[in-house]
Amino acid sequence: MSDEIKTSQQLWTGNFYNEGIGSHDGLFDKLREECGVFGVFGHPESASLSYYGLHALQHRGQESAGICVANGESFSYYRNMGLVKEVFNNDNLTTLVGPSAIGHVRYSTSGESKLANAQPLVFKYRGGDLAIATNGNLHNAGEVKKELESQGSIFQTTSDTEVIAHLIARSKHDDIVLAVKEALLKVEGAYAFLFQTKDKLIAARDPHGLRPFVMGRLGNAYLFASETCAFDAVGGTYYRDVEPGELLVLDMSTNVLVEDRFSPIKQRAICAMEYIYFARPDSDIDEINIHSARKRMGRQLALESFVDADVVTGVPDSSISAAIGFAEQTGIPYELGLIKNRYTGRTFIQPSQELREQGVKMKLSAVRSIVAGKRVVMIDDSIVRGTTSLRIVNLLREAGATEVHVRISSPPFKNPCFYGIDTPDRKELIAAQKSIEEIRQAINADSLHFLSHDGLLNAIGRPNGEFNRGHCTACFDNRYPTKITDEAEVGCGCD
Ligand code: SF4
Repeated sequence: MSDEIKTSQQLWTGNFYNEGIGSHDGLFDKLREECGVFGVFGHPESASLSYYGLHALQHRGQESAGICVANGESFSYYRNMGLVKEVFNNDNLTTLVGPSAIGHVRYSTSGESKLANAQPLVFKYRGGDLAIATNGNLHNAGEVKKELESQGSIFQTTSDTEVIAHLIARSKHDDIVLAVKEALLKVEGAYAFLFQTKDKLIAARDPHGLRPFVMGRLGNAYLFASETCAFDAVGGTYYRDVEPGELLVLDMSTNVLVEDRFSPIKQRAICAMEYIYFARPDSDIDEINIHSARKRMGRQLALESFVDADVVTGVPDSSISAAIGFAEQTGIPYELGLIKNRYTGRTFIQPSQELREQGVKMKLSAVRSIVAGKRVVMIDDSIVRGTTSLRIVNLLREAGATEVHVRISSPPFKNPCFYGIDTPDRKELIAAQKSIEEIRQAINADSLHFLSHDGLLNAIGRPNGEFNRGHCTACFDNRYPTKITDEAEVGCGCD
C-alpha cells in the first residue's frame, strides 16, 4: 500500500502554539470533537463544495484538512496541516476536478506534525485507488491490527482508518461494496465512514449510530456530512440521517443511490455530548435542532436548580443557548456577562507558562458593567477537569460579581469516552474524583448544580421506547453501548 502525500507546501513543524478557534481549544478545559467528514457525489464543483462544507465543520477539527476528488478514472487529492482556509486556495482547489469528493477535518493539537495521518487517507489496493475519511474511533483497532501484522501487513500510520483499508485489501471479495461490508463487520466502535473509489462513493455509519452522519441533496447531487450545518453552507438541503448500520452506495455508472446495510441496527446510542456541546447550534441531529435542545436543557436546569439572582450569563459559545433557556424559565434577565475574543487563532509566539496560566483572559472577558454588584448565574455545558471553571468564576468575581452560581447543562462527566472524543483519563476528571460540594469549593462557586440524567434526555426530546431514549450517556453513567475491553484506548482513531 502506498500513501503518497501530494503536497508542495512546507510541512507544519509544530513550532507554533495553537490557541484554537471557537471554544474548542487548548486553553479551555474542554473535550474535543475529533473529526468531521463531508462528501459530494454528482456535482462538477465537488471540490469547491467540499471546501465550504468542511469550513462549516471546522469546529470538529482544526489540525488538518483534506479533499480527495474522483473523476471516474483517477483521483486527485490535497491535504495539509492547518485550518481549511489555510490548507486550500484557488491554486490547489482547481487541481481537484471531478464529480465525486470526500473531505475531512481533523482536530487540533499543539504537538508534533501528523501530516501522515491527515485524511482522506489514500491507498492503492488490487481494485485500484481507495480513499477513506472517517469521524470516530474503532476500539478494537489495536486487536485487529495485531492480527493483521501477524499475517504480514505493514502499517504506515497510527490511524484506525488504515486498519479498515488493510481489511478491505485482504478481503476475498473483488467487489468493493462487499469488501467494505466484510471489513466493517470486523471492527467495533463509533464511526461515520466515507469510502471513495475512482467511480464510487460509499457512506457507512456504525450500528449504534454513535457519531452523527447525515445525507443531503443539492439539485441532483448527493451530499454527506457529520452535521447538517455543512449542507446550509453549500446551499444544499437535509435529506435524512444515515441510519445506524446502513451502507449507502453511489456509482457513477448509474447515479442511483443504493440503500443497503452491513449490520442490523444495534441499540441506538447517539452521542448525547453532540447535543450538549460538540455540534453547531444550527445543526440538527436526528431531526432535533441543537440550539433548541440546549435551550430546553437550560429550562430544565432552571426547574431543577433555581437560584435567586440578578443576571444569567453563558460561557460562550456553546453554553449561550442553555443560558437563554435558563433565563426564559426563571425570568432572570439573560446578559452578555462574558465576551469572547473572536480573533484569537494561531500565534507563533509560544506563551510563557505564566501567560498560559492567564490564557483564559486572552479568550474571555467578564463585562464589568454587567456583572459588578450582581448575583450572577453562570451556565456552562460541562466541567472536565475544573480548571477553566475556576478561572471563569474568578474572572466574574474580579469584575465585581457578588455571587457566582454555576449551573451545568449536563450531568457530571465521570467517565472517559471510547467513541472518538478526546477525553482525559478518569483520574483527571474532576467529577470522578470529587463530590459536587468538593467541586463547588474547587471552582470557587457560591453554588453548583448539574443537570440530571433524566432531565437531559427529556430536554433533548427523542421519543421514549428505546434504551436510554436512543442515546449514549456513558461519560455520565458508565453504561457503554459496546463492550470496552481496553481502557487505554481512549480517544480518536484518526490519531
Ligand atoms: S461516552 Fe460521552 S462523549 Fe463519548 S459517545 Fe458517549 S455520550 Fe458521547
